Amino acid sequence: MSNVHELNFLKEKIQELKDEGVYRKLPVLETANEPEVTLNGKKVINLSSNNYLGFANHPRLKRASIEAVEKYGVGAGAVRTIIGNMDIHEELEKVLSEFKREEAAFLFQSGFNCNAGTIQAITQKGDIIISDELNHASIIDGARLSRADKAIYKHSDMDSLEQVLKENRDKYENILIITDGVFSMDGDIAKLPEIVELAEKYEAMTYVDDAHGSGVLGESGRGTVDHFGLHGRVDFSMGTLSKAIGVIGGYVAGSKTMYEWLSHRARPILFSTALPPAAVGAITEALKMLMESTEYTDKLWDNAKYFKSKLGSLGFNTGKSETPITPVIIGDEAKTMEFSRKLLENGVYVSGIVFPTVAKGTGRVRCMVTAAHTKDQLDKAVEVFETVGKEMNLL
Ligand code: PMP
Repeated sequence: MSNVHELNFLKEKIQELKDEGVYRKLPVLETANEPEVTLNGKKVINLSSNNYLGFANHPRLKRASIEAVEKYGVGAGAVRTIIGNMDIHEELEKVLSEFKREEAAFLFQSGFNCNAGTIQAITQKGDIIISDELNHASIIDGARLSRADKAIYKHSDMDSLEQVLKENRDKYENILIITDGVFSMDGDIAKLPEIVELAEKYEAMTYVDDAHGSGVLGESGRGTVDHFGLHGRVDFSMGTLSKAIGVIGGYVAGSKTMYEWLSHRARPILFSTALPPAAVGAITEALKMLMESTEYTDKLWDNAKYFKSKLGSLGFNTGKSETPITPVIIGDEAKTMEFSRKLLENGVYVSGIVFPTVAKGTGRVRCMVTAAHTKDQLDKAVEVFETVGKEMNLL
């Protein structure tokens, strides 16, 4: 007789994962997230992190973090609406609104719950959310939680978006168009000027998830909205503090009205403890560093262009990336995973990405270049790509 506490129904599902060949153990990092790391006991070049600017282990951020801990302790102690809202949270929001050049910015504990919490708070039953088919999972979850209707347009296809807008304009009072600013699997940039024009034509609101654009695109890494000069024309400009900024957290920048509403109705703020002082101190320092100098963003773009051109000249297909996200498209799923495995055996860690994360037949390894990589590390990685690529007849 089966015992419910044995979780046999889950054991069966786990076995299915094993049968499909997609069961995996989590890789274990034994050092800080740097361009060279010790992973599962092996020293490798790291081409897989979102630590775009090398801030995750930066001495200035660490110092700021320690100072915040000394003064405010290790935990915020409560949700923001009770007594978890410290002056450093408010100061950080001010710095964020200055950085994003918006009236206000509202802070969340992660990018994921920023999307889920904001989308749920600003849309409801009777509204419609129109979403790019490649948008991030946290947007999809936020849309589900909101109980609004949903419609999907083909990836970055403006005819498809206009069609969906035409079909729905008269059926709903509020329409929210959501797009990633930079798409995480291909590194292409959303056609934001066209999206904003369509939104204005059809009187829809716009929401940009700039997880991969903040700290990367625009002046001093201000993001995709700044890159296209669209300030004041995008209603909700969301970003993460876990990727280029190197720490943890998320925010949405926009109007004061948005701020007031979220502080009353965003569920992660009402029901989940505020970001810890260590994170807040480090994030504030990172934003100040970005606004002081373009040293880090310049280095990031220099490294990304260098690495991409080297891989391209070897004959690898780096797709349509316009940003430091550099996919090397292999196609076949099994071959992609074998390529990733062999690169690791040869000292380069770059994750293989296959269906269902990307479409069938478009498997790729996704290289994430950072400002912290040296040219020597990038050259070594390219050498390994060449050796393994030739060995597997990919070149
Ligand atoms: N949006 C996008 C496009 C992302 O890539 C991610 C991170 N994978 C998130 C949101 C969530 O951000 P976080 O990791 O800060 O929760």
